[in-house]
Amino acid sequence: AKESGRGQMSLYEPAMDEKIERRRQLAAELHGALQRGEFHLVYQPIYDLAGERITSCEALLRWTNRRHGAVSPAEFIPIAEDNGQIVAIGNWVLHQACCTARDWPAHISVAVNLSPVQLRASNLPAVVISALDSTGLAPQRLHLEVTESVLLEDVDASLAALKALNRLAVNTTLDDFGTGYSALSYLTRFPFQTLKIDRSFVTDLDHSPASIAIVQTVVDLAAKLGMRTVAEGVETAAQLDQLRRTRCDAVQGYLLARPMPADMVAAMFAGTRLR
Ligand code: C2E
Ligand code: CA
Ligand code: CA
Ligand code: CA
Repeated sequence: AKESGRGQMSLYEPAMDEKIERRRQLAAELHGALQRGEFHLVYQPIYDLAGERITSCEALLRWTNRRHGAVSPAEFIPIAEDNGQIVAIGNWVLHQACCTARDWPAHISVAVNLSPVQLRASNLPAVVISALDSTGLAPQRLHLEVTESVLLEDVDASLAALKALNRLAVNTTLDDFGTGYSALSYLTRFPFQTLKIDRSFVTDLDHSPASIAIVQTVVDLAAKLGMRTVAEGVETAAQLDQLRRTRCDAVQGYLLARPMPADMVAAMFAGTRLR
């Protein structure tokens, strides 16, 4: 197949060039995107299974660019991480999310995703303090989500950053649990209050006894270690039933609610509905 000639090569190379060119264009457009007001946050409710009520909402970043329209965070966040723009964008997200959550009922928290780049920045505690102080949000109501892969890159730095965040009394969540390569022993080494089980395990709950066993083991272990568990990406009633049986603490997913604009969340908490 490799020798199938020029025809195939010339089909392949432009596709690569296009990818590189789009990446270059998005990187350029990310400059000034904050100033142009192109970002906004949507919020996805997280439901407590025991109380059957919303206990927090995860803030998810949206970018609508003047030239490229809506760009997925899965595409632009890695670019912003590579060129360092994630720091300014991440600070904006943190401030914006705290500002919005301050007006929610006091028992509702807000979960914010932290990039590995932000976790490694030495001024992270100062940035978090500033977001809390300027908005007046109680630190207990701020949950910071970091992915498993971060921990392996630099164990000592990650540990120090997480300890500093815990001293501020904010909640730390290990996101996408099960997708990385970290040992279970990491759960005892790193100070997380919450463990978020990755969507890949939740999806498989419908048909895979092995996944049920894995999720049950994770929930039981987390409980023994004093951590709460959240299952993400719940899309079917069968998955929800299974998660109830495992005694997972909380669930999040399209079955329960999609990410929504801040004013819809506020209206929901106020007991009214926007039309
Ligand atoms: P994540 O932190 O794992 O967030 C969950 C993603 O799953 C979100 O995608 C959410 O919209 C989606 N989701 C929620 N429920 C369901 C479901 O039932 N089924 C399916 N198929 N998907 C569901 P989104 O908003 O596109 O974000 C993708 C990723 O981008 C996030 O994954 C997170 O890693 C990153 N991200 C989003 N916002 C931020 C941010 O403000 N800062 C940083 N550093 N990363 C962010
Ligand atoms: Ca997350
Ligand atoms: Ca996640
Ligand atoms: Ca995920």
